[in-house]
Amino acid sequence: MTTPSFEQGPIRPPSEAASLLVRVVRNCSWNRCRFCPVYKGSRFSLRALDQVLADVDAMRAAADVLEAATALGPGSVPPEAFQVARFLRGGAGAAFLQDADPCAVTPDKLAAVIEHVRRAFPTVTKVTTYGRAATLARRRPAELALLAAAGLTRVHLGMESGSDEVLARVDKGCTAAQLVTAGRQVLEAGMELCFYVMPGLGGRELAAEHVRGTAAVLREVAAAAPTEHPLVVRLRTTAVVPGTPLADDEAAGHFALPDDVEVAAELHALLEQLDGVRLELRSDHALNLMSDLEGSLPDDRARCLAALDQFLALSPAEQAELALERRLGVFRQPGALLDAQGRLALQRRAAGADEAETAKKLEAAKRFRARFL
Ligand code: SF4
Repeated sequence: MTTPSFEQGPIRPPSEAASLLVRVVRNCSWNRCRFCPVYKGSRFSLRALDQVLADVDAMRAAADVLEAATALGPGSVPPEAFQVARFLRGGAGAAFLQDADPCAVTPDKLAAVIEHVRRAFPTVTKVTTYGRAATLARRRPAELALLAAAGLTRVHLGMESGSDEVLARVDKGCTAAQLVTAGRQVLEAGMELCFYVMPGLGGRELAAEHVRGTAAVLREVAAAAPTEHPLVVRLRTTAVVPGTPLADDEAAGHFALPDDVEVAAELHALLEQLDGVRLELRSDHALNLMSDLEGSLPDDRARCLAALDQFLALSPAEQAELALERRLGVFRQPGALLDAQGRLALQRRAAGADEAETAKKLEAAKRFRARFL
């Protein structure tokens, strides 16, 4: 089987695993965030509108070839068409615009891409994109309304922190005020908004400030979300990836990465400061210790706090064992701690670890986070 060629960017959010991937720009126009390994060493470039539209047509042609095939199996789908096959098997309902900040292109050009995707794939009901706060905060409400009218349904935005001090230290290229403006404008234009928050990004030194600023931005933005689509917040625990500027900061003693117990304490403080806030919390990445820290706030806030309390009340040896097992993929559901049998089994596995061994396990668990990026 042969299919026409088209470009694909390197990443998409886990929730867009079955989306059609449409590369509107190449790499990241900012590319300075100190924690981010994704586009370092790659140059940003805009793509001409006719190239992007031609890619959409090529994906349509690939979909036609795949739909006509009698059987699909390993080796029968060209690697480049794999995502199109995934999109078709997933119901062909969503498309995702790449790479880091497609919203940086002019709104009329982006609207033309979105409309072309919807014409070429009439089953698509959701078109989503990554967006930077600094870009979206600059857009006029009418420009965002144009994108929404063209069919853009959701923006994934890397908030990381709501603290100006933390944002400046990691060179995020935006302020808390821009996060609030960008977030509120996206919601007011009628689109869904997903913020990505990075527990641990303030390091040990700025942990309390990181929580305070993040809670403040979330409160302000969540208040602008309509009942039918509340703000979605996805947790991405901070990892120090070798070769990144953050790794240099750590080596120079300017950044101390919080361990899993410290991150749990941060999350507890964050949830405490989100009393009464309405948002959807998601923990859908292996970077996070607790995959069950999810739910609709405010209703599920007490349950999430109780899960964190339970982890924080374990002995240091149990916390370290659980953190390490989670990173190694052995202990998949920390929520099973609620089960007395699960707790007993954990106690048995953690038994005998002295203070030094416990510290080593926590350190190893912290380092293993980088393997998930
Ligand atoms: S804006 Fe996003 S993709 Fe670009 S460097 Fe920052 S985190 Fe990475």
